[in-house]
Amino acid sequence: MGSVAVSRLAVAEDLPAASIVDQVAAIARRELAPHAAAIDEGTVYPDALLRRLGDVGAWGSHRPADGVADLRCGIQSIAALGDVCGATAFMAWCQNTLVWYASNSDNPKLVAKFAGKFASGEMLGGTGLSNPMKSFFGIEKLKLRGRKVEGGYIVKGALPWVSNLGPDHYFGTIFEREDEGGGIVMFLADCSDPAITLQPCKPFLAMDGTGTYAVQFRDVFVPDELILAEPAGPFVKKIRAGFILLQAGMALGLIKDCIQIMDEAEAPLSHINRYLPQQPTQFRELHAEFEQETMALARDPYNSDDSYWRRVIALRLRLGDASVAAAHAAMLHCGARGYLKSHRAQRRLREAYFVAIVTPATKQLRKMLAGDEH
Ligand SMILES: Cc1cc2nc3c(=O)[nH]c(=O)nc-3n(C[C@H](O)[C@H](O)[C@H](O)COP(=O)(O)OP(=O)(O)OC[C@H]3O[C@@H](n4cnc5c(N)ncnc54)[C@H](O)[C@@H]3O)c2cc1C
Repeated sequence: MGSVAVSRLAVAEDLPAASIVDQVAAIARRELAPHAAAIDEGTVYPDALLRRLGDVGAWGSHRPADGVADLRCGIQSIAALGDVCGATAFMAWCQNTLVWYASNSDNPKLVAKFAGKFASGEMLGGTGLSNPMKSFFGIEKLKLRGRKVEGGYIVKGALPWVSNLGPDHYFGTIFEREDEGGGIVMFLADCSDPAITLQPCKPFLAMDGTGTYAVQFRDVFVPDELILAEPAGPFVKKIRAGFILLQAGMALGLIKDCIQIMDEAEAPLSHINRYLPQQPTQFRELHAEFEQETMALARDPYNSDDSYWRRVIALRLRLGDASVAAAHAAMLHCGARGYLKSHRAQRRLREAYFVAIVTPATKQLRKMLAGDEH
């Protein structure tokens, strides 16, 4: 895989939120857009661009301070990227989620060593929480197992897909304790560890430039310094709304571009497109409604009320459905011009399905809303 060559700016800490989103949007338009097709094809993993986004504060605004966190700027930044490239919006989610885990950890050594470096983009990585998230809702069993040893744990097993990875990257995930029934531990996996192997995945429908690998753990020693939370249960309850809400950025950006695609088809094709049942104006209304609900929920990610959690899940379900609906409508509005491989409408459709299948997938969200958690 190649990488996108970009110049690095001086690290811009403490930038106001609006300025961060503006700068991310400018980078998306100028530096990401020319590479979106190559990222989609999987010939580029844009690590330099991700670091550059870190320079302007894209990965740091949602870090908690004094027990309070605000995800609005983080979500809007992901949306600005998603407006241009769904794969990059997903990598942005991966990186933001990694920051979210490290910044919320109670392990002072881990926080001191990693939280700032993840937030600045100096260190990159992601999350391997799909399998644990499915296991908590009785969909599948935990795939990693660990046992306590002097100074840490020994972990083995394999995860089928983890994104935004490379040889020096990190990701947060969970193992089940073999030596303590019901015990689960959340930790940072260090991809440079020789006992961890990254295996390239078979080509996907989209998202091939996202640095996605199958990850094998062969009796990996995980030192205490890499433990995010032990036991992991209460920590997962704390970070789960943020994990899901940050995904809203992927959907909001994608839906916005699908509206733009429909608008672009308007001039040459309005005489016939007006017969289509779904019009850009409906998606504009929906987008505004989703944005409002997302921003309201994103101000309060530690809210532990059940009603709040249900609102987060319901929103996430609607965002997946609407992403697919908007991309489908964009295809119908474009007609043959959107059927060309060179047109982004078909890329947006493939990306939209990812929003609907990435954990928590549509079917899992429906199970959760049905209250059938086990
Ligand atoms: C491009 C891509 C990137 C992803 N990145 C991440 C990531 O960064 N972190 C993360 O935790 N998860 C990642 N995932 C996983 C993702 O979040 C979902 O878990 C996954 O798409 C399946 O979710 P599902 O709920 O539909 O499960 P289902 O597809 O219903 O079931 C999943 C289970 O089916 C089995 N299975 C699925 N496909 C195959 C296959 N080809 N061969 C054999 N068995 C199979 C496996 O046991 C798997 O656990 C990624 C997936 C994709 C496609």
